[in-house]
Amino acid sequence: MPLSLAPEHEARRVEFQGFVDEHVAPFADAFHRAQRTPPELIALLAERGYLGISIPKEFGGAGEDAVTLGLLAAELARGCSSVRSLLTVHTMVALAILRWGTRAQRERWLPELASGRRIGALALSEPGVGSDAKSVTTRIAAQGTDLVIDGEKRWITYGEIADLFLVFGRTEEGPTAVLVERGRPGLRTEPIRDLLGIRASMTASVHLDGCRVEADHVVGRRGLGITQVASVALDLGRYTVAWGCVGILRACVEACVAYTSRREQFGAPLKEHQLVRRMISDMFTDLHASEMLCMEAGRLRDRRDPGALSATAMAKYFASTWIDWGSFEGPVTTAVWMPRILGFFARRGAAKGAPLGTAANSFSHASSPLRPRDRSSTATNSPFRNGSLAPSTVIGAPQRRPAARLLPRQTSTSPRSELIRPRDRRDPSALEVKPPGYWKWRMDHGPGAGVVAVGGSSGFSKS
Ligand SMILES: Cc1cc2nc3c(=O)[nH]c(=O)nc-3n(C[C@H](O)[C@H](O)[C@H](O)COP(=O)(O)OP(=O)(O)OC[C@H]3O[C@@H](n4cnc5c(N)ncnc54)[C@H](O)[C@@H]3O)c2cc1C
Repeated sequence: MPLSLAPEHEARRVEFQGFVDEHVAPFADAFHRAQRTPPELIALLAERGYLGISIPKEFGGAGEDAVTLGLLAAELARGCSSVRSLLTVHTMVALAILRWGTRAQRERWLPELASGRRIGALALSEPGVGSDAKSVTTRIAAQGTDLVIDGEKRWITYGEIADLFLVFGRTEEGPTAVLVERGRPGLRTEPIRDLLGIRASMTASVHLDGCRVEADHVVGRRGLGITQVASVALDLGRYTVAWGCVGILRACVEACVAYTSRREQFGAPLKEHQLVRRMISDMFTDLHASEMLCMEAGRLRDRRDPGALSATAMAKYFASTWIDWGSFEGPVTTAVWMPRILGFFARRGAAKGAPLGTAANSFSHASSPLRPRDRSSTATNSPFRNGSLAPSTVIGAPQRRPAARLLPRQTSTSPRSELIRPRDRRDPSALEVKPPGYWKWRMDHGPGAGVVAVGGSSGFSKS
């Protein structure tokens, strides 16, 4: 069932679909193999205004709403998840500046990002720091009126070509966000090759060796780099990744329907066999449910409703866990198809969850097709289970994702998730600190108790 959209959103969706069908999808394999996104495509994205789609018009952007941003993310991901990840990190940097930057910073950087003259990248993770973002070790030391940065950032999406890095390091006051342009002495990027998925995302390590910037490059208050600046950026990242998963699912559904319509066994196309039909129905249902959750998150964001935070987390949780190997193995398991479908997942989905925090994706990791599983768990799920080419024999058999309501209650193990909550009901980005244990208590006893497994651990922290 197609998602019901307002006419203006439907018009934009059709426009994005046309763009992706013409400029992205046919070349995704080539991008994947070359491990790069061609500059011509990035220039085209900029020319169409897609890189500034959610930046306000006063700063040279298109000023579109969150739903439109989501529709663009979904369509880009349908064609190539790497290209979607460019939109994600670029808009994360822009939003962080918009929310927490000074007027001067907004006027200086946002028009550059909106036009695509500069590509933004978010430099948070380090070799020893992932989920626990507040433990960043990169040093930011004051020297006169300047700041000197030393450290290494790892897994920086589009770090190979980005022009403006939002770097998270540690000042005397605590974690702090600072903007560093490419070209500053002491900044060096080193490509990371041969990723499993989103291989065209030009991921890099960023080395900062005595890299000097002016003090006015600090975004937000010193010491609040994670709780304020990163939180806003990561929330937006979750939102576009959630929509991206919708796009991946749509592409997978289309691929499965096409293949099972074409291939015949026992005198009928695969899709006419009852069990295969059921699997495809499951996929359509997951797609539609994911779309609806994403749409709900988008609408709440557009209304600046504080519920947008948890709605976004739920959308990302649900949409990023749909890759249910059990659903695909029946329709697509043949010697001819397996290499293609494995590549398909690797290209589009294998890295869909990790970039925005580990515990944030604890549920997606739990059902990842790349994670070894108890093989007995899906033994009844597929008529192909005994075949030597069944996916389980290749990468381990995943369990079907249980319905969200059946999940055991979980609470976050991250201290940050207990500290960060919206303060201003009109502005979900405004955060306040609550005493440790408060939100756990609220999740257990307050309104909405029982669904915290979804919103709790994935909503309010990177991890
Ligand atoms: C493709 C890709 C792109 C990325 N892009 C960027 C980027 O642009 N910028 C950036 O800064 N970073 C980026 N990252 C890094 C990403 O943010 C981290 O991978 C993520 O935060 C997880 O950190 P980690 O990989 O170090 O895992 P870890 O934090 O070391 O976690 C390892 C394992 O431990 C588990 N674990 C961790 N903490 C807990 C806990 N509290 N409770 C239970 N289990 C736990 C996790 O589930 C995971 O299975 C990217 C990563 C990938 C894969």
